[in-house]
Amino acid sequence: MSLITISWRLSPLFIIFVAFFLARFNSLMLVDIDVLRALPYLLAVVLFCFAAMFNRSRFIAPVVITLFSYWFIRERLQSPLIQEEVMAMFTGLNLLFCGQLILSSLIPEKGMFNRIGFIFISLLLLGDALLWYYGTSSLWMGLLADLALQQDGLFESRYWVNNALLVVHAATALILTLVALLRRSVADFALMLTWLSGAIIFYDFSLENVSPICFSALFLSLFLVFQQSNYQVTYKDALTGISGRRALEDYLSTLGRHYSIAMLDVDHFKKFNDTYGHDVGDQVLKMVASRIAKVEGGGKAFRYGGEEFTIVFNRRSSNDIFVYLEAVRTSIQDYHLTLRGDDRDGDRKAGKQQRGKSEKAASKSVSVTISIGVADSASRMTPKDVVKTADDLLYKAKEAGRNCTIKA
Ligand code: GH3
Ligand code: MG
Ligand code: MG
Repeated sequence: MSLITISWRLSPLFIIFVAFFLARFNSLMLVDIDVLRALPYLLAVVLFCFAAMFNRSRFIAPVVITLFSYWFIRERLQSPLIQEEVMAMFTGLNLLFCGQLILSSLIPEKGMFNRIGFIFISLLLLGDALLWYYGTSSLWMGLLADLALQQDGLFESRYWVNNALLVVHAATALILTLVALLRRSVADFALMLTWLSGAIIFYDFSLENVSPICFSALFLSLFLVFQQSNYQVTYKDALTGISGRRALEDYLSTLGRHYSIAMLDVDHFKKFNDTYGHDVGDQVLKMVASRIAKVEGGGKAFRYGGEEFTIVFNRRSSNDIFVYLEAVRTSIQDYHLTLRGDDRDGDRKAGKQQRGKSEKAASKSVSVTISIGVADSASRMTPKDVVKTADDLLYKAKEAGRNCTIKA
């Protein structure tokens, strides 16, 4: 991963830390205070519309959770925490915030505009309503007072950090991180960012304007996260994870006069699928794609479609890069994918009857080869023409017996 990619990925996190330091050192004095306080609402509306386009309930969740927290802070928590009623509501908000994040992280993504999405959003709003109406109920206040007796400084401390809330926040961070690591989805990263900005605000709660600054920053950073996900969907191939056809077309339009293009195609892949099943075929395609993506000599790899791939070498001729294509071809030819017994189609069909007879089906290794055609750019040729020429040469490589590279 390049430095630019890493910075781009981490930029949402960076925004939140910058906001915290701006709030900490009171550096936003030039901004009109009313505008600053209205900003989170404005950004939330934009983000809400944006996230709704995805029809993803777990994208909407951070917006709903943050919006209520911000509103609650502005409406109910503008007095010193030293007052027991305010401290009770503050504690309630911390618990609700963490609880809603955990719920959002554990719920499966089933879309927003359906029964499960409706129940999920209703649960979030129910929590909001409970805190709004019962944030200062005598039962809840009594419970907190009992806790305060066991802990020094629950009502006095400048920071929220008392043991009970610390444990709740630590548990929330842990659960969100574990789920994010397991699922590796954008929505989980968004929930972690939401927790982080909330935790910063609650930590230094008496800081002036910490909530409008940090929640505005959160919304901007969520906007970036959704854009990153958008980029991923648009330009990356879902099966193999390498760049897809649209990325190729964009890249071709940026090329100069000198370049070469290679078309690669897996040999007899239809037969391979028929023999081992489509799932094994998919696994092999992933392996092939990862080998092709590792091409040296400055080549950029794309999945053209199906079992066909393209490598573009900017400012290099086919003579220069022939050796790199051959290296890719032999690395695929030499790779043997080991199948568990269950992976094999034949085994799957016979498996039900056989189970019991032989628990351990023998493992088997399979391999594939690829054929390559590579062409150079020439005057009056568009990149499309070069792709076409490379494709014709690929056809020749097939005719020549496959598992070979042919250049013009
Ligand atoms: P040749 O050596 O001439 O290229 O023969 P071939 O069988 O590879 O050629 P053909 O183009 O007829 O078949 C391509 C096959 O690739 C058909 C399709 O089943 C398979 N295929 C395309 N995309 C995928 C995919 O995403 N996953 C799997 N498993 N198979 C795919
Ligand atoms: Mg093909
Ligand atoms: Mg093929």
